[in-house]
Amino acid sequence: MYLSFDDGPDPEATPAVLHALAEQGCTATFFLVAERAERAHGLVSRILEAGHAIGNHSLDHRWNVYFRGPRAMLRWIDEAERRLQDLSGRETVGFRSPAGVRTPHLHWSLRKLDIPLVHWDVRFFDRAFAWTESRARHGLAGAGPGSIVLLHDTHAPPHLDGFLRTLGLFLAEARRRGFRFAPLDRSLVRQALP
Ligand SMILES: [Zn+2]
Repeated sequence: MYLSFDDGPDPEATPAVLHALAEQGCTATFFLVAERAERAHGLVSRILEAGHAIGNHSLDHRWNVYFRGPRAMLRWIDEAERRLQDLSGRETVGFRSPAGVRTPHLHWSLRKLDIPLVHWDVRFFDRAFAWTESRARHGLAGAGPGSIVLLHDTHAPPHLDGFLRTLGLFLAEARRRGFRFAPLDRSLVRQALP
């Protein structure tokens, strides 16, 4: 199973998520917003040093790019990729579009840049609703070998504790069912593409 955490890095939530993953010996992929990564570049190193992978989640996560032309879209992805590569010293595993939006301009840009799109098949809407144990169990029941799970590492302190508790339960229960966790990499993502 491939866990992924979108929208960070966040100075509060990302270290807490890293700690929770380390406690259970799990590795994952962090889809970073490039401008946020530049403001918290120490966290980029910490993510990589812990054995996790980094994905491209756009330059600034602003959705107005979806309503602009293909060149703006291409720059939005390319600039993020270059900045994340400068910070991390490696290419990202691929691009995940904010809100999962897919448009002809997006596909055109990714083809031009030769960057794979990384979607997911299990999600919990954990930014909109509290991630409860029952929702975690329900999602786990729908997961299979190779599932890509979408979560977020941006929860603010009032909700962070509950999120971390459920994350711990989810990881423990998934492992009990025989799942192992690995970070994504670009060649793996390419193989999975149709
Ligand atoms: Zn996002």
